[in-house]
Amino acid sequence: MPGEKPQLRIGLIGSGFMGKTHSFGFATAQRVFDLPYDLVLHTLADRDEPAATAAAAALGFAGATGDWRALVADPDIDLVDITAPNALHREMALAAIAAGKHVYCEKPLAPRAAEAREMAEAAEAAGARTQVGFNYICNPMLRVAREMIAAGELGEIRSYRGVHAEDYMADAAAPFSFRNDPVGGGVLADIGSHALATAEFLLGPIESVMGDAVTAIARRPDGAGGTRAVETDDVARAFVRFAGGASGSIEANWVAMGRKMQHDFEVYGSKGALLFTQERLNELHFYSAADAAGRRGFRRIEAGPDHPPYGRFCVAPGHQLGFNDLKAIEVAGYLDAIAGRIPEPFNFRAGLRVQELVETILRSSREQRWLATA
Ligand code: NAD
Repeated sequence: MPGEKPQLRIGLIGSGFMGKTHSFGFATAQRVFDLPYDLVLHTLADRDEPAATAAAAALGFAGATGDWRALVADPDIDLVDITAPNALHREMALAAIAAGKHVYCEKPLAPRAAEAREMAEAAEAAGARTQVGFNYICNPMLRVAREMIAAGELGEIRSYRGVHAEDYMADAAAPFSFRNDPVGGGVLADIGSHALATAEFLLGPIESVMGDAVTAIARRPDGAGGTRAVETDDVARAFVRFAGGASGSIEANWVAMGRKMQHDFEVYGSKGALLFTQERLNELHFYSAADAAGRRGFRRIEAGPDHPPYGRFCVAPGHQLGFNDLKAIEVAGYLDAIAGRIPEPFNFRAGLRVQELVETILRSSREQRWLATA
């Protein structure tokens, strides 16, 4: 019943792709989960007043401002949610932490690991509860995969393949953007960070890497009639060794023509294997070597109420969750952590870890040698 729970008042910064997704996440989580709070969509900030006002009306926020600092300073706001471009994350998050807010921030946490460390340390010192937006690991089917691996259903894990490939930068006419910024830009930081988060979510820490990052499109339009040289990576790969003993490879690719959302992994063990693709995010494919000879093959495990929290969204199996639902699951976990019900699912410290992996792989590529991770 509204009014029975304490309120949590949210200030959202940014209303683009992720601002909208987070708004859906809050709205859906409020209806689907038994949240510890009544969520209040308090204020939305964007780069100017008209943009903020229009977005606030569309996304259900009561107030709007063209000045994110006013949002951060508002004593009525409990949680600051940052979905602005990467280069702004640090300044916004540090200001919000200093103002005593909990902070939810989109990935990558910051363009440089040193900045991400500053953010993690500031949050910990202030006791702020934090969350970074690695939504793919919120998929119930990834949780099933992790449980199966941990329970030994695949036996000893020997090898891993992870990939995150899309084609939104495959057009050479796509303009230079924050995604190409020499500081913190590039495909590995942008979407490879998801592949790295998933790899460690499933198999535990990566202990060493050998990277190879390349720029496939050397110049992009600068938006002023000219072109600008691109220094950041369009395709990045790393051979990796996990502390648990498995070897693997990770690929990040945003010029993979035709691929729209290939966030995939393959895990091979001594007793079985698992395959997953985000393009069919409600399915996990399991091969068991224990099956009878002549009957072996990958079986499809389809998402349903047996895979929490699927059942909160839909009582019937096979009806499928979507991308925005993963954000709602992320939101629900974060709110439980703010309320002290569970540890933070993916806090700034975890976001820093991913950023350090990105930087180590890029350095390994430049130096053309294996490097140990932190
Ligand atoms: P976007 O360009 O669609 O949206 C950015 C928003 O920030 C816009 O509303 C813009 O007007 C606003 N903004 C820019 N400068 C601002 C300022 N000074 N003050 C207030 N608002 C400002 O970008 P996006 O695709 O939503 O990406 C935003 C963040 O989300 C990035 O860090 C990106 O890496 C991340 N992202 C995460 C996922 C995911 O799956 N988790 C997917 C896409 C993007």
